[in-house]
Amino acid sequence: MIPRLKPTLDGRELQAALTLPRQDDVERFETAFAEKMNQKHGIAFPYGRTALYLLLKALKLEDREIICPAYTCVVVPHAIVKSGNHPVFVDCQEQDFNMNLDLVLQSITEKTGAIIATSIFGYPVNLDQLDSLRKKYPHIYIIQDCAHSFAAQWKGRPVQKEGVAAFYGLNISKIITSIFGGMITTDNDALATKLKDARREHLRPPTLSKSIRRLLYLLAVYPTFWTPFYTLVNCLERWGWLAKFVDYYEEEIIDMPDDFLEMMSPIEARVGKVQLEKYDQIIAHRRHLAKLYSDHLKDLPALEPPPLIEGATYSHYVPKVNNREKLLERALQNGLQLGWLIEYSIPQMAAYRQRYPDQPDCPFSNRFSQETINLPLHTNTLQALKIYSKLKKVIFNEKTDLNKQ
Ligand SMILES: *Cc1c(COP(=O)(O)O)cnc(C)c1O
Repeated sequence: MIPRLKPTLDGRELQAALTLPRQDDVERFETAFAEKMNQKHGIAFPYGRTALYLLLKALKLEDREIICPAYTCVVVPHAIVKSGNHPVFVDCQEQDFNMNLDLVLQSITEKTGAIIATSIFGYPVNLDQLDSLRKKYPHIYIIQDCAHSFAAQWKGRPVQKEGVAAFYGLNISKIITSIFGGMITTDNDALATKLKDARREHLRPPTLSKSIRRLLYLLAVYPTFWTPFYTLVNCLERWGWLAKFVDYYEEEIIDMPDDFLEMMSPIEARVGKVQLEKYDQIIAHRRHLAKLYSDHLKDLPALEPPPLIEGATYSHYVPKVNNREKLLERALQNGLQLGWLIEYSIPQMAAYRQRYPDQPDCPFSNRFSQETINLPLHTNTLQALKIYSKLKKVIFNEKTDLNKQ
C-alpha cells in the first residue's frame, strides 16, 4: 500500500540525527533556512504554531482581530486565540483554495491587527491584490503563512518576502521537515531582535529528554512508511488504535501541545538542515507529479483536478470529487489509500462555533472540506502512474453515483 503522505528521508537525516549535538546546531539551521528563503533572518521555534503565537506577541498585538482563512490548518486560529487575540475567518475562493482577498477588505475593522495570508496547498497568494490591500491599510500587518508554500512565487515574486514576516511548519507531514519545529523569516532587523527576545522570555531550553523523544520519533518514522509495514499501520489507524499519534486536533477544544513552549532541539535542527539541501529537488519533483496527474485526470469524469499554477509548490495535490466517502472506500479496497486534507471548515468546528457564533458564512470552505481528496506527491513517476490507473479502474467500475454532475 502506498501511503498518502511520506517524508523524503534517507540515510543522511538519520546520520545527522545520530551525530553528537553542537552548541550552534539551531543557529546553523536558522542561517541556512534564511538563506534558502532569501531573507535576512531565520528564527527557529518548536512548532509553526509557536512561531505565530510569539510573532503576534512580538508585534504587540493583543485583544485585536486577526484575519485568517476559514479553510486552513486549525492550529492557526488556536495560536491566535492563545495569544490573546481573536480570529476573524474569511472564506476561500473557488479557483485556488486561497482566502478571498475581496472578502478580506469587507472584514477589516478598526480592531484588525493583522492579516494572515496563506498560500494553501502551495498555491501562491495573489500578491497584486495583497499590494493594494496593504496600500489602503498600511498599519495592518501582513503575515505570510508559508507552512504549505515555503518559497512559492506569484508571477516570479516569492510570497514569503511580502509581509512583515513569514512563518513555516516543519513537522513530518510538511514539504521539508525537522521532525517537529517551526521557523520565522523576516528582513526586518528590529522584529528579528524582538522575536529572539520573545523566545528568551517565553521558551524554556530543550531538555535532553526532548532530544531523545524526537530521535525516537524519527527512528519510528522510517519503518512506519516502509510499504509492507505501512499496510499494517494503516489498519491500526483505521481501527482507531493510533488516534493518539495521528489526530492533531479535537473538535471542541482550543489547545496547544504540552511542549509548545520548549525550544527546538539540536537534533531537529540538524535534520532540518539536511532536508533544506533537498528542497529544490523535492519541489521540482512535486511540480512534475502535479503536472503528470493533471494531464491524466482530465480523462476521469468523477474528478476535478486542482489548478496548475506557475510558481506553486504543491504541498498537496487535491482533486475535488462528489462522493468522497464512497470513492475513498472503493479505492482502499483496491489497495489505494487516498485520504483527505483539511476536512473541516474552521468556523463550523464546535470550539469556534461556540466561541465566535457570529462568523460569516463560508460556503466554499464548507464545500472544499467535504469534496477534496489528496493524491500522494512523494512517489516516483511510475508509482504515480499506477495510482492513476488504479483510480481509473475504481471510477470506471463504479458507473453510477461517483461521477460529478
Ligand atoms: C502545519 C501548518 C502550520 C504549522 O503547524 P505546526 O504543526 O504548529 O508546526 C501552520 N499553518 C498551516 C496552513 C499548516 O498546514
